[in-house]
Amino acid sequence: MGATYIGRFSPSPTGPLHAGSLVAALASWLDVRAHGGRWLVRIEDVDVPRCVPGADQVILQQLADCGLLPDEPPLYQSQRSALYQRALDDLVARGLAYPCACSRKDIEAGLQRLGRSKPRHGELVYPGTCRAGLHGQEPRAWRLRAPAGTLLWNDRRLGAQAQDVAAEVGDYVLKRADGYFAYQLAVVADDGVQGITHIVRGEDLADNTARQILLQRALHLPTPAYLHTPLVLGANGEKLSKQNGAQALDTREPLAALNAAGAVLGLQVQATTVGNWLAAATAQWAAVWGAR
Ligand code: GLU
Repeated sequence: MGATYIGRFSPSPTGPLHAGSLVAALASWLDVRAHGGRWLVRIEDVDVPRCVPGADQVILQQLADCGLLPDEPPLYQSQRSALYQRALDDLVARGLAYPCACSRKDIEAGLQRLGRSKPRHGELVYPGTCRAGLHGQEPRAWRLRAPAGTLLWNDRRLGAQAQDVAAEVGDYVLKRADGYFAYQLAVVADDGVQGITHIVRGEDLADNTARQILLQRALHLPTPAYLHTPLVLGANGEKLSKQNGAQALDTREPLAALNAAGAVLGLQVQATTVGNWLAAATAQWAAVWGAR
């Protein structure tokens, strides 16, 4: 694989890293090193209203404290709207994306008319109301026309995965009603332009993968290899997230932080310096994941 491996860690700067985010960052770094590749950091500040000023610098410092240094200066999604707009325009020109005038209420009403109930968790399945046109209404958002059928993909850790995006998610948003680009479009456009070959990230993102693969295909981009890492659960059994107030990762003792993250990944490392810890962890990682 050698020189053809490019990996990335792409945090949203909505707050400092927590123990769970270090697991994903460390795993992506180790996988890069085990394959002799390049490690990029992308600050995913595309959802501007949710970002916290200065969180990007805190995150980069936390990573640096743990010895995780990007091979190129980090890229910021907030500066890449022109790329995302070009991707959207291309999809619209080819009939693969369309404008949507629906509010959340309209979507609920549309689902009710079709006799479909609202899911207890997660997003509403878009009923396709604006697929055939806006009927004179103003566009609010832009959606991908999800192709019918089940998409199969493979995760290096979780194995064979399947999702029928059209049935389970519906036509999904690429550009939001508030004018910001959606995560799905930004992540796929950037992974494509940056030539990312391997994505290693938290398991909470696994169910976005089918949507991202559909977009890669629509944009004629290659599909990277995927590995979704185990989540760190809080005392309440829920996954740690900035939204449920997970504590900021304390990197004043980087070896303690690395030991905890390493344990989640099944690594048993004893070392007295960060450099030695990472070298030993890379060897262990390579033995398990180097060939997969
Ligand atoms: N920015 C996303 C997050 O912090 C991760 C995106 C990805 O790795 O694909 O949850």
